[in-house]
Amino acid sequence: MPKIVHYRDDCIGCHACIDCASDNWEMSDEDGKSNLKRSVCKKDKFIADISDVEVEKNVEAARNCPVNIIRVLDDDGKEIWE
Ligand code: SF4
Repeated sequence: MPKIVHYRDDCIGCHACIDCASDNWEMSDEDGKSNLKRSVCKKDKFIADISDVEVEKNVEAARNCPVNIIRVLDDDGKEIWE
């Protein structure tokens, strides 16, 4: 199953990920950073399983993130960068 990894600490709250994939991303009312929906926190990152149909929009989100803190990984944990 593909995964998204979000290194949230460095998020600058620019909204680009939400513009690309609002099903997976939302802004936090608390600190102005984005939240990866349905994710679990592991140490310094948030991780969420996604379906194959969600990959394309989230690769777009990763490409548009100005601080490069979004990774989209395939079943083998390899980064997808189309
Ligand atoms: S695109 Fe990157 S910096 Fe901008 S809100 Fe999303 S995760 Fe944060």
